[in-house]
Amino acid sequence: MTPQTYAIVTYGCQMNEHDSEIMAGLLESRGLARVEDETGADVVLFNTCTVRDGAEHRAYGRIDTLRGAKRANPDMILAVCGCSAQDKGQELLERFPHIDLVVGTRDYVNIDQLVEEVRRSHQRFVAIDDVDKPLSLPVVPARRSSLKAFVNIMFGCNNRCTFCIVPKTRGEEYSRPLDEIVEEVRRLVAQGFREVCLLGQNVNSYLDAQRHDFSDLLHALDEIDGLWRIRYTTSNPKSARHRHLAAIAECSKVMENLHLPVQSGNNRILRAMKRAYNIERYKFLVALYRDLVPGGALTTDMIVGFPTETEAEFSDTMRLVEQMRFDQQFMFMYSPRRGTVAADTLRNDVPLAAKKDRLQRLITLQEEISLELNRAEEGRVHEVLVEGPSRRGDDLMGRTRTDKTVVFPGDPALVGQLVPVRIAQACGHTLRGELVGADAAKVAAG
Ligand code: SF4
Repeated sequence: MTPQTYAIVTYGCQMNEHDSEIMAGLLESRGLARVEDETGADVVLFNTCTVRDGAEHRAYGRIDTLRGAKRANPDMILAVCGCSAQDKGQELLERFPHIDLVVGTRDYVNIDQLVEEVRRSHQRFVAIDDVDKPLSLPVVPARRSSLKAFVNIMFGCNNRCTFCIVPKTRGEEYSRPLDEIVEEVRRLVAQGFREVCLLGQNVNSYLDAQRHDFSDLLHALDEIDGLWRIRYTTSNPKSARHRHLAAIAECSKVMENLHLPVQSGNNRILRAMKRAYNIERYKFLVALYRDLVPGGALTTDMIVGFPTETEAEFSDTMRLVEQMRFDQQFMFMYSPRRGTVAADTLRNDVPLAAKKDRLQRLITLQEEISLELNRAEEGRVHEVLVEGPSRRGDDLMGRTRTDKTVVFPGDPALVGQLVPVRIAQACGHTLRGELVGADAAKVAAG
């Protein structure tokens, strides 16, 4: 039976989200239609993440729930893709007898042919190529937004942070040619996209064959007419340079929000993580950023409970958070990843209870700081790109240049527009606002 429908379940980072858009584009180019409920789909892709236990086990749990659906429809084709597939390979076919295909992080660009091969041969197999094989991006991704688009600028990572599995699952760094990226963004603008988010494990080490670096890329994209906003993730303090940060100030389309993962506030732990910078360097970069980009937002990633981390060393992390006053952070307990230096050489000796306690204290502190910073926004007017209806659907939602979510009443015709919004109230992670200027009159007129 020729498959008619597909569903994709995506875990992990924006790179995985964009890989899912590329796989969706490939299946749609074969005439399949997307459905949201995977239990009724002919083809189901699980795009997995292995950066932490939680993400991996959530995916495995969901894969397990499809045993019944597969029994009911033996023609259903189940594939596991992404970093967990690249890392575990054959092991997943043995663990899940009801899945047909395991696809690596260099092979997802052939997902349509691989699914066809399963359908034709009725064989289960693993398609995992050399993780350093150059990646050529095929068809047009089936993007989830018509306003904002993810754009890969590079693949892989040459760093060797001891807790991280990414170099093993995503391979060595490869920077796409600047001209190719500029051309892709021009095409996106011609299709009506107004915001791009540049993706790379470590964008600061972007360097193409013509030796264009990240600052060159930002300046080149800033020239594109019709493009309104440029965001990017992820930066790395080890390779962040003055000219990269200066480009945020110099390029009017580059948004004033920097995600700069620090991971710990203690130098001994940073050495054990092989992060290749110290807290003094980190603070210098933040001071430079805030000098170059007054009012710019700053977010980070933090790991608590890394092997051998003492209570005193965790206090250094808390002190750094009090000093840096991040707008937001992604906070995690250390999770040993098989095949990483930390998991293979360091004892996971911080008790789970201590990890949970430290994580909770960090979250509480960050929530206080985020609310204080959001309260300081009250009364200010921000340029907001209207993305669509709010979650409850009765208002509009959009983001400021500093990547803060704003909800406000307004005419749905404003979706896709840049509008001035005055912040009226700070609510945890969201700001409530009201339109100012001409659009406000329309709202008032009802
Ligand atoms: S910079 Fe470190 S944490 Fe980030 S992807 Fe590379 S190895 Fe992993």
